[in-house]
Amino acid sequence: MKGSDPVLNDEPKIEDKWLIDPKLLYLGPKIAEGGHAKVYEGMYKASSVAVKILQSGSTAEEYARRREKFLREIMTLSRVQHENLIKFIGTCKDSNMVIVTELLMGGSLKKFLRALRPSCLDLEHAICFALDISRAMECLHANGIIHRDLKPDNLLLTGDQKKLKLADFGLAREETVTEMMTSETGTYRWMAPELYSTVTLRRGDKKHYNHKVDIYSFSIVLWELLTNRTPFEGMSNLQAAYAAAFKKVRPSVDNIPEDLVALLESCWDEDPNCRPEFQQITSILLSFLSSLTSVKTTPPPVIELGQTSYLQFDSPGTRHLMDRSREGDEMKPGNSSNGILGCFNECFS
Ligand code: ATP
Repeated sequence: MKGSDPVLNDEPKIEDKWLIDPKLLYLGPKIAEGGHAKVYEGMYKASSVAVKILQSGSTAEEYARRREKFLREIMTLSRVQHENLIKFIGTCKDSNMVIVTELLMGGSLKKFLRALRPSCLDLEHAICFALDISRAMECLHANGIIHRDLKPDNLLLTGDQKKLKLADFGLAREETVTEMMTSETGTYRWMAPELYSTVTLRRGDKKHYNHKVDIYSFSIVLWELLTNRTPFEGMSNLQAAYAAAFKKVRPSVDNIPEDLVALLESCWDEDPNCRPEFQQITSILLSFLSSLTSVKTTPPPVIELGQTSYLQFDSPGTRHLMDRSREGDEMKPGNSSNGILGCFNECFS
């Protein structure tokens, strides 16, 4: 959608400090296309950034829904800062709906794990990633925010692929104790049963749930980190939802260390009140990690990559940008040496 969007009176107000000048924002190639937005590489001032641009839906209602989700994401991102949460840089006023964040070049956890198959992550590495997630979630919950869409697709790796950061806050919500929340769809495979398990799976049903839904999703991601398998393999999303909610099916814990089985089983407990808080999860993971390192007599094994050179992030666009900045090209509008980079302001105003 081109041009400026009308700002509705009841829309949340974005603080001025987060408003960036579109003239200083340059767009590079597209990295990805999500359900509601396209994500581009870009440059803002001297930094590489990711630029997420809202897509107009096929109807006005759809666009309004997407816009609301986008605004919610902006408000959440602007409220929290943590080394395991994607860093918000800003948004543009009176322009396309745009979210500018730090650019993470390591790809998603989903892609990373897929490239590793059939091998699994080294246990120590899996626990370090789980700790990244647990710490990010601790920060969100401490700020009264529920993510509601925690899954490997939404966990991005830094360029060195050593650290995970949580992204996509489109479904994130403030938690208020008495509020009833609508059951918008995330992805059932990772979703706590109480998010959808009334008698039917009707969209828009109102129901009670709380931040413990994120603990359930975390358990499924932890299970994937430990097994590198797809949860509820062979089932459709709906079959997985039915199995988890009505038949109490959970992923198999065969070959998982006992301490971690106990953690998984408490996190995916049907009763949200029996699930631990992320603070407790972090300390359990830390103590498990120290038990691992204390029994170790040899240096930690390197992750088995097989033939896959997974450090090569599948984004020629990123490399293009990096090469350009190394060559010291000035990225200015109208400069033909800018190649595929265009000034955001010129492209979308
Ligand atoms: P969904 O429909 O899943 O909710 P979305 O439209 O809200 O998606 P995101 O999930 O935020 O969009 O982003 C889509 C994809 O873009 C991500 O899976 C990731 O591959 C890429 N991406 C998003 N932000 C960044 C970033 N900061 N750095 C690198 N890649 C990113």
